[in-house]
Amino acid sequence: MSLEFPIYSPVQHIAHPLLTEKNIELAIKRDDMIHPFISGNKWRKLKLHISHMKQLKINKLVTFGGAWSNHLLASAAAGAQFQLKTYAFVRGEDVSNPVLSLCKLFGMHLIFVDRTAYKDKYALFESHFNRDSALFVDEGGRSKEGIIGCETIVEELTESYSDIFLAAGTGTTCAGILSAITKRKENSIVHAIPVLKGGDFIQKDIQDWGIDTVQLRLHTDYHFGGYAKTKPELLEFIHSLIQTTGIMIEPTYTGKMMYALFDQVKQGNIKPNSKILAIHTGGLTGFLGMYEKFDNLASVKELVKTMY
Ligand SMILES: *Cc1c(COP(=O)(O)O)cnc(C)c1O
Repeated sequence: MSLEFPIYSPVQHIAHPLLTEKNIELAIKRDDMIHPFISGNKWRKLKLHISHMKQLKINKLVTFGGAWSNHLLASAAAGAQFQLKTYAFVRGEDVSNPVLSLCKLFGMHLIFVDRTAYKDKYALFESHFNRDSALFVDEGGRSKEGIIGCETIVEELTESYSDIFLAAGTGTTCAGILSAITKRKENSIVHAIPVLKGGDFIQKDIQDWGIDTVQLRLHTDYHFGGYAKTKPELLEFIHSLIQTTGIMIEPTYTGKMMYALFDQVKQGNIKPNSKILAIHTGGLTGFLGMYEKFDNLASVKELVKTMY
């Protein structure tokens, strides 16, 4: 069953002096434009689950995540759009923040569970729900259905690229992209930037799904201290990229990915005449918990000093 949900994700060229100097082309696939809240790769990961639910006439979607999860917000908003009841087990103590408020606004029921209980997601699901009326969707939308959904990122491309860059959390989006470029016999190298510490597991996870990783390059040194951690250097970079391109990125995912991309270019690891595609996986609501950090940037302070 196909769902009525038109996708708008154009490919946009980016001009930047460093790229011109190295004779490298950069385009960005704007999955962030798919929807303000069902953002980026999250719609791609959810859509097959939702169409299966419609087919099976199951109307409860049950999922999992941390208190700032883009996946929870996407599930809540998609649930509202497709008349599903949504439930989320939220890791950690009962808190409120703008993302969870938005989840509730879309009608999601939040169930806070401590970190020990959260570890056994199936047990939580089984103790509250019935398989006949509810669907289990893993944290971050990690699933075979999610991988198939993410293959469409590559299927929509009308050109070939030598290098594709994207941020990785569970690696589901990366798996979909690798799977699709293998099917289309593209020679692209897929550069995945794990946003958490110890991201090596992603390669093995992708192989466990039965997907070839010969064209994968995992860059595990751009996590800036771990998931949702930042450093002044990363914030400075994000600030300057937003100012020079007008494209919004944020510190948790796309900021780390773009930092890695420019760093790889700077270091000469991307050959001249390369044609790079960066995947903007969305997630701009991550800014809701981070924006005050940008008010303290050294560059802003310097600028203010020169004004007085
Ligand atoms: C969830 C998310 C990711 C991670 O996607 P995976 O498929 O889990 O690797 C990347 N970028 C953004 C903006 C996200 O919200």
